[in-house]
Amino acid sequence: MPELPEVETVRRGAAAHLPGRRLRSLTLRRPDLRWPMPAAALQALVGRRCRAVDRRSKYLLLAFDGDAEPVALVHLGMTGRLVVEVVTARAARPEYRRHEHWRMDFGDRLVRFVDPRRFGALDVAPAAALARHPLLRELGREPLEPGFDGAFLFAATRGRRSSIKANLMDSHLLVGVGNIYASEACWRARVRPRRAAGSLRRAECAALTAAVVAVLQAAIDAGGTSFRDYVGVHEDAGFFARELAVYEREGEPCRRCGGTIRRTVDGGRSTYWCAGCQA
Ligand SMILES: [Zn+2]
Repeated sequence: MPELPEVETVRRGAAAHLPGRRLRSLTLRRPDLRWPMPAAALQALVGRRCRAVDRRSKYLLLAFDGDAEPVALVHLGMTGRLVVEVVTARAARPEYRRHEHWRMDFGDRLVRFVDPRRFGALDVAPAAALARHPLLRELGREPLEPGFDGAFLFAATRGRRSSIKANLMDSHLLVGVGNIYASEACWRARVRPRRAAGSLRRAECAALTAAVVAVLQAAIDAGGTSFRDYVGVHEDAGFFARELAVYEREGEPCRRCGGTIRRTVDGGRSTYWCAGCQA
């Protein structure tokens, strides 16, 4: 499943190509993905210019100019890929790829959405109503933006008996931290992922929020170097694997203390930690 670093990598790629370009046509090849797609509202984007490519959690936000400044929301779901191609020969209309469900034609750029399992999403909303959109309105803080710090995490976790890891993965609290990054951040911050979140001390909250940012940033940096004139999600899914400290390293030695990496199951998900240096 694409995680926040992958989505941010795609955003940066798309942001380098789409702003300033006018949408020439939009083709829906089916009525729905995870949910129905609003065909008429989406067709109303045609003729408008892309203003920016932003991101909220794992939603890509393609902002357009004109009345109400509509924003297209794109979610990659489980298996979705947003591919931006440079089109040189206009005569040869590019063939559809297998599982390509919609495309946006920006003239010399073509955006394709390819999603075998169809858990992705495409919707559109006016910019002013974006924060109230049902898919966005309950989302917590963005870890890579101001306001995500130790003081925030300390206040948010008081009295919580659920695990630290479950709280890191709670999108009402903060967005974009999946299973891999939650385990990795706990290791960096030297806290055991299954401890009650309410037991975190102030210094641990500061270390943990810094660790979340560092882990996400390292993954973005690793992913950001792998595309040239097109962008795709996890075409190179293993790009971050060699940097993982605990994830899927059960039984192997800790790179910090030499202790043994352990695995347990928390909330149905595998959790990895070092018994030697995570308290
Ligand atoms: Zn260790």
